[in-house]
Amino acid sequence: MSLTERAAKAAKIAEEPHLYKVCEACDSIVTRRVATCPSCHGYRFNEDPKVVVQQAKILGSREQRSVVTEDLL
Ligand SMILES: [Zn+2]
Repeated sequence: MSLTERAAKAAKIAEEPHLYKVCEACDSIVTRRVATCPSCHGYRFNEDPKVVVQQAKILGSREQRSVVTEDLL
């Protein structure tokens, strides 16, 4: 996934943060419906929309980490 695509996806997440949550173990953004993190199998999440938006912006501006799991595509 290119940085541009990442940024676009991050922007989309930032528009609807209530649909997502952030894994507290690996900082991945996942959909609210998942029970465990697809990346690290963690089960602790931060569902604060402000945190989701903040994390989306951070990940959207970085090359090295995945913004979201393929599950969201
Ligand atoms: Zn995780």
